[in-house]
Amino acid sequence: MDYKDLANLIFPEVREIDYYEEKYPERKLKEGAIVTRFAPSPTGFVHIGGLYQSLIARKLTAQTDGVFFLRIEDTDQKREVENGIVGIVNALNDFVVLPDEGMISETEEKGNYGPYKQSLRKEIYQAYAKHLMEQGKAYPCFCTAEEVEAIRTKQENAKIRPGYYGVWAKCRNYTVEEMAEKVKNGESYIIRFKSPGREDKKIKHHDVIKGNVDFPENDQDIVIIKADGLPTYHFAHAIDDHLMRTTHVIRGDEWLSSVPLHLQLFHELGFKAPKYAHIAPIMKNDNGNKRKLSKRKDAEAAVSYYEEEGIPEEAVKEYLLNIANSNFENWRRANPDKGMDQFELLLNKMSVSGALFDMVKLLDVGKTVISRMTAEKVYEESMKWASKHDKELVELLEDKEYALKVFGIERGNKKPRKDISKWSEVKENIDYMYDAKYFERKKEYPYQVIQEKEEIKKILTLYLEKYYDQSDDKQTWFDKIKELAGEMGYAKEVKEFKANPEQYKAHVGDVSTVLRVALTARTNTPDMYEIMQILGKDTITKRFEKAMEELGK
Ligand code: GLU
Repeated sequence: MDYKDLANLIFPEVREIDYYEEKYPERKLKEGAIVTRFAPSPTGFVHIGGLYQSLIARKLTAQTDGVFFLRIEDTDQKREVENGIVGIVNALNDFVVLPDEGMISETEEKGNYGPYKQSLRKEIYQAYAKHLMEQGKAYPCFCTAEEVEAIRTKQENAKIRPGYYGVWAKCRNYTVEEMAEKVKNGESYIIRFKSPGREDKKIKHHDVIKGNVDFPENDQDIVIIKADGLPTYHFAHAIDDHLMRTTHVIRGDEWLSSVPLHLQLFHELGFKAPKYAHIAPIMKNDNGNKRKLSKRKDAEAAVSYYEEEGIPEEAVKEYLLNIANSNFENWRRANPDKGMDQFELLLNKMSVSGALFDMVKLLDVGKTVISRMTAEKVYEESMKWASKHDKELVELLEDKEYALKVFGIERGNKKPRKDISKWSEVKENIDYMYDAKYFERKKEYPYQVIQEKEEIKKILTLYLEKYYDQSDDKQTWFDKIKELAGEMGYAKEVKEFKANPEQYKAHVGDVSTVLRVALTARTNTPDMYEIMQILGKDTITKRFEKAMEELGK
């Protein structure tokens, strides 16, 4: 009896590995093409870090005419939730980070290197486990969970390195006959990798992001096939990334310490190892402490948060590129009008230690992104968001023609107004343009320099009676406000006022503020000329009257 016989006893049905090697040939891509993947577990929660990783993968593969695929790692069936895959697929769709291959729904997939769901690849893993066993590189382990636990406790008490290795790896020392005997007797077992490594030896690894790192060799006889017949993450990683012809494994840096094991697995399986690029996590400043964005503590850790808040998909991506490569910011400044697909992302420019996530900055990017959109696009996106999250906004936007005018204020010119950072801000941003909303509640009128009731009333009355004409162009309109200012003893130019402040009550800007506050109950609005054009004389009159009424006698 030898290992071949043992392998046949344990895996009687599986195919030869040559079958798979031929079925999934080397990809015919151009020199330098990157093949990489996003490989999440369907746990029902998509972390922003996953989107970040996918975006990086998508960009690098697009830049090199490579392939980006989505592989679902569902071998830990205890952690799985219903619709977990759909959640991941939808997140990538929502953010338009679309894989070339892989799962496209809970059950469907595209591409020639599948199945892309690990639970459907059982016989593939078993074929390779058998192949290892035939060479004496894998063996059945009969230790119960309690026995493994007892080994660990002993190690802890003696303060030695924990794990199933060397002298502690009890089952590796059985003879093939003994192993076969136990299997035949129906003892339950799992399959372990027989590590050829020694802990006192070092390996050198070059990580595309982290640079050169030294590690002790792996000497752990890790589990490769569990009792349910499914592989562990480590084993599945080696088999899948080999057969799917991955060139770069881009993943979270919590996996960096597994590199010695992974390189050893690739080597013992006879595979060429991929390049590894370990991404530092997105960090958060928590009262001066830098820590990872946490699923438990931070709402913004979930991809769903951005959709709920209505932060545009483009802004999120653009901001993530900012985090990924710090030179993105300069590139954007130099190329304000280019699409972000034209930015060349480089793995070796990725932050080694983890960039800070800054919500203020993200919202700022949101403002820029939205400011570049046409009124039509702003309308559509607001409506899309509102139909899921805000009925009142849907009602407000019902009159599309009017909404387009409102969104058109200071838009489409060279320096568009940057006032909306996310769709959930639209309502408060525009509600004063709607009489129904405007008159709904009692308002504070935040008058500034000019505060006296009678003075304000006089400005408003005179303006309506003598100066406002809907057909005026912008210049004439403004000249008239100056005239009004002059007539009432205010400087027509701020400059004049500054030169001789004692000669005037205040200046034209202060008069404008009175008009603006009476009209909108705000001190800060987009261009008042455009607002007046849209509201029209009747509404302006109604609003001024209301403002005067509020001032009281
Ligand atoms: N399923 C692993 C995870 O979600 C994938 C890691 C990898 O990309 O290899 O962390």
